[in-house]
Amino acid sequence: MPNPSILILAGDGIGPEVMAEVSKIIDWFGAKRGVSFDVSEDLVGGCAYDRHGVPLHDDTMAKAQAVDAVLLGAVGGPKYDNLDFSVKPERGLLRLRKEMDLFANLRPAQCFDALADFSSLKKEVVAGLDIMIVRELTSGIYFGEPRGIFTEGNERVGINTQRYTESEIDRVARAAFELARKRSGRVCSMEKANVMESGVLWREVVQKVHDADYPDIALSHMYADNGAMQLVRNPKQFDVIVTDNLFGDILSDAAAMLTGSLGMLPSASLGAPMANGRPKALYEPVHGSAPDIAGQGKANPIATILSFAMALRYSFDMGEDAARVEQAVETVLANGLRTADLLGPEGGTPVSTAQMGDAIVAALDASL
Ligand code: NAD
Repeated sequence: MPNPSILILAGDGIGPEVMAEVSKIIDWFGAKRGVSFDVSEDLVGGCAYDRHGVPLHDDTMAKAQAVDAVLLGAVGGPKYDNLDFSVKPERGLLRLRKEMDLFANLRPAQCFDALADFSSLKKEVVAGLDIMIVRELTSGIYFGEPRGIFTEGNERVGINTQRYTESEIDRVARAAFELARKRSGRVCSMEKANVMESGVLWREVVQKVHDADYPDIALSHMYADNGAMQLVRNPKQFDVIVTDNLFGDILSDAAAMLTGSLGMLPSASLGAPMANGRPKALYEPVHGSAPDIAGQGKANPIATILSFAMALRYSFDMGEDAARVEQAVETVLANGLRTADLLGPEGGTPVSTAQMGDAIVAALDASL
C-alpha cells in the first residue's frame, strides 16, 4: 500500500499558523508511529488569488481530487472583501466542496471536561457531551431551482426551493448509519415532515435505508424545531443526528456552541468512496481566518488538530490514533494550558499557538 496522501491548503490569516501545528503532529506520526504521510501543499483563497488571480487554481483542484484527504486551514480576510463575487476567497472552498461532491458534512460537538465551564449551559448538561451532526451539504434549499427575486404584479417575491431526490437522501442516511456503527449505534433523523413534503420523503427514505441495511442501528425521527429545543434542553440524549442542508446549518452551529470556543471545533466533509475505498474528504476547522489575531501567535490550533484527528478516523481508519490525538488535547487542557480564546473571566497567562502545538506533541510522546 502506498503512503496515505494529504494535500494541505493552509489558506489565509491564521490558517498557516494553525496548520504549522498540524504539521508537527503529522511529523510525529512519521517519527514515532511509523506512519508516513505523503504531504503536499498548495494555495487556496486570498493567497491563491494573489498568485493566480483565482481563489483555486485548476492544478490545485486536480491535486485535491487525487489525494486521500485535503486538510484546509481558513480562507478570507479584509484585503479581499471588495473582490468580485466570482473570485472571492470563499469561492475556492465552495469549488472544492462542489467538485469533490462532498455531500456529508460531519460536525462533532464534544465537550472536553476541562472546558465544561465555557458552555452557556449548565456544566452538568454538557459535561461529557459527544454528539455528531451529519448535515447534507450539496443539495436542498441552498441549491434548489427555481430561485431568485422575481416580480409578481406590483411587488417583488423572493424564492428558494427545497428539493431532495431519493438518492441524495439515501447516501447521506447511509453516511450517518455507518458513523453510528463506529459510535453508540443511535441515529436521530430531523426534518419537518409535518409541514414539508421534502420532509415526508426524507423520513420515508431514511427509514427505508435503515430497515434494508442498518437494522442494528436504533433510528428515531424528530421534527427539526423540537430537535433545536432538545439540543439545548438535554443534548446528551443524542449520538448521531442526520439532517438536511438548511436545518443542519442551524443545528450544527447551535450544537457546536454548546461546547464553548470556536477555536475548538473541527469538521469533516465526505463524499463517495474512491477506487481505494477511502471517501473523498476535506477536513477543516469551523472557524474562519480570524484576521483580528492573524500573525500574532494567538490562534488556537486545536480545531485544526482535531480536524486532522477526524482524518485519521474517517479517511485512514486509524481510530485508535485519532483517539490518541484527542486524548493528548484533553490532557493538555486538563493541565491548564490555554490559548487566549480559552481564558475565562478569571484570566491567566495564555500560551501561544506554537506552545499549544508543542504541548500536544509532548502529550503524544507521553502516551507511548
Ligand atoms: P472567524 O471565525 O475568522 O473569527 C471570529 C472570531 O473568533 C474572531 O474574534 C477570531 O479572532 C476568533 N477566532 C476564530 N478562530 C480562532 C482560533 N482558532 N483561535 C482563537 N480565536 C479564534 O470569523 P469572521 O471574523 O466572521 O471572519 C473572518 C474571515 O474569515 C472572513 O473573511 C470570513 O469570510 C472568513 N471565514 C472563512 C471561513 C472558512 O475558511 N471556512 C469560515 C468563516 C469565515
